[in-house]
Amino acid sequence: MKSSNVISECQQCGVCCEKGGPAFHRADKPLVEKGIILSKYLFTIREGEPAHENVKGGLTRVPSDIIKIKGKGDAWRCVFLDEMDKSCRIYENRPVECRALKCWDTKDIEKIYLRDLLYRKDLISGMGGIWELVEDHQQRCDYGLIETLSRLFKDSNDKDAEERILEMIRYDAHLRELIVKKGNMDKETLDFLFGRPLLKTITMFGLIVQQDGGQWCLRIKT
Ligand code: SF4
Repeated sequence: MKSSNVISECQQCGVCCEKGGPAFHRADKPLVEKGIILSKYLFTIREGEPAHENVKGGLTRVPSDIIKIKGKGDAWRCVFLDEMDKSCRIYENRPVECRALKCWDTKDIEKIYLRDLLYRKDLISGMGGIWELVEDHQQRCDYGLIETLSRLFKDSNDKDAEERILEMIRYDAHLRELIVKKGNMDKETLDFLFGRPLLKTITMFGLIVQQDGGQWCLRIKT
């Protein structure tokens, strides 16, 4: 990000908030615990998942959970941005990154960026049953393994690699369905608990899932 001498205070243009919501740090934990920001407004970028590096730019594989505020629909625009007057609907309770971010001077955000991040386990490890499922999901749908298998499939059309990826995608989809039906869980909290669906994130590995004769199969994204 470039510094500018022209602006020295927030112009409320909304551009920062349109680029995406903040990542949560440990200092933001009370916002979730006190129900000021509900978990249905959050999503998790899971360890090993490719994500855009907002400060340095480019794609990176995240080293640990990053919990973020969701965008609106498929856009990155923060759900708490009021589009009419470009104001923040939770301004008094906005997370630490939002307080630190000044588009005209990025020193403060660079100091805290990726430090003392809040992880899912900080919020839900005490929730009997759920945390075990989250850990099991993390292990079975490991992004490091997905990366390796994706490369095998793309480079040599490895059928075993394809089946193992599809198995993970089916498990991920099934678990989400089950949690909503039997666990009586709000569908909107799933992206916080288990990250975004593999059916969507697999595209970041250059692959898409297609139906072939009623069966799922992988195709290389063109
Ligand atoms: S929480 Fe508020 S300040 Fe932070 S990105 Fe969203 S709208 Fe902007």
